[in-house]
Amino acid sequence: MDGSAGRDIRADYEETVARLRKTFHSGKTRSFAWRRQQLEALGNAVATNEARIKEALKADLGKPDLEAAVAEVDYLTKECALAARKCESWSKPRGVGTPLSLMPSRSQMVPEPLGVALIIGAWNYPLQEVFGPLAGAIAAGNCAVLKPSELAPHASELLREIAAQVLDSDAFATVLGGAEETSALLEQRFDKIFYTGGARVGRIVMEAASKHLTPVTLELGGKSPAVVAADADLEVTARRIAWAAFMNGGQLCVRPDHCLIEESVYEPFLETLEKTVREFYGEDMKASPDFARIVNERHFDRLVGLIGDSKVLIGGEHDRSEKFLAPTVLRDVSPDAPSMQEEIFGPILPCLKVASIDEAISFINKRDKPLALYAFTKSSDVSDRILNETSSGTLMINDAVMFQANHHLPFGGVGESGMGAFHGQHTFDCFSHLKAVMKRPFFGDVSLRYPPYSERAAKL
Ligand code: NAD
Repeated sequence: MDGSAGRDIRADYEETVARLRKTFHSGKTRSFAWRRQQLEALGNAVATNEARIKEALKADLGKPDLEAAVAEVDYLTKECALAARKCESWSKPRGVGTPLSLMPSRSQMVPEPLGVALIIGAWNYPLQEVFGPLAGAIAAGNCAVLKPSELAPHASELLREIAAQVLDSDAFATVLGGAEETSALLEQRFDKIFYTGGARVGRIVMEAASKHLTPVTLELGGKSPAVVAADADLEVTARRIAWAAFMNGGQLCVRPDHCLIEESVYEPFLETLEKTVREFYGEDMKASPDFARIVNERHFDRLVGLIGDSKVLIGGEHDRSEKFLAPTVLRDVSPDAPSMQEEIFGPILPCLKVASIDEAISFINKRDKPLALYAFTKSSDVSDRILNETSSGTLMINDAVMFQANHHLPFGGVGESGMGAFHGQHTFDCFSHLKAVMKRPFFGDVSLRYPPYSERAAKL
């Protein structure tokens, strides 16, 4: 379905959701053979379309092929394979204890699919953000409507084509379009909404969901700090931060958004960071095949505005006609600078000096809870303090972004950076209801609990 004008899209969406709900109630999606077949078909289609996926991501974002291969194709094929392999075992009842006073009884949590889900994706990893959650939704036995981002039109069209070719059309549908189409979709009653994007639209999604009491997972963003302690290995830290901050042109929800550097290593760290950025992208950064472009002119103008009159350590060059903004490190940035007022979500890395780890912790705690927090230190006292005295969706020590490759870890935000989490079995769980089931035999019936209570109360 596309959202072209001239017809009643609401009626279309209502019909689609009703069709999917009918399939859900038919029991078709409960079959593990069906779930495995859908997941394998999706994983295979992503793998066989690798070249077209790279081409689409190049057209939308100038995304380097290796980044597309790792973060979209490889990630998705692995998530689909894992979900296909595990969907049956993940669905098994999970036994829990029963207090002695309730014996004889057996207590379990039994995962059941929620029904018809809506999955809304953002534009920076346009396939991963829709097909990733979908893998868990299929594994858990749901139907789903997919709504990729209109800001990555080539990838979204390819996603629609792949879904139409390999997924069961009784159970899955794709809607293309932007705010108008998403708003109309949000009027429908879904059993789960999984949204990836900014917090402003996250609030719109949650408000719409409240009308039907639909549960939501909100995968949002925010300003993720990287703390560089005085005892960090500066060379490795600079490499890991620069790689994570400028990957996909800095358009990554868990990128280190800014650095908080302990005073005693501030100058040597900046020197190392500058050298590292030069090594990665060369003197002519525009010619680097390893650096993506900004998604559109609106974001390009916003990013150039965020540099403002801050001191540029390296980068700063930009060309609107190519939506190119060089990997840019800003030094001596004030907390009041434009780049510190909103999530950057582009290739700009402000660096701030802090007198101590105490100051870094208090800086972090005065702001919204970040999606990710990075701490670079050899001291377990320092990393323990950051772990225990701050709150963030994820804490990674001595590296950035890599935690996302571990599907055992739940990925999600807290507070302003989101709610709920996914990846691997966590995605299965987020599209399931864990039904509490208690089973008792007929024998061992104790009459004490039954009325009339007064006779027993008199004996007490
Ligand atoms: P976006 O503009 O593509 O919007 C996201 C989705 O919301 C799109 O599908 C879009 O069509 C829809 N939308 C836009 N306006 C709407 C409206 N008024 N009503 C209803 N729906 C609407 O993406 P974005 O918000 O620019 O994405 C960037 C943000 O997403 C950043 O904050 C980033 O950190 C975050 N993000 C988070 C994750 C994560 O997994 N936590 C991943 C990627 C991006």
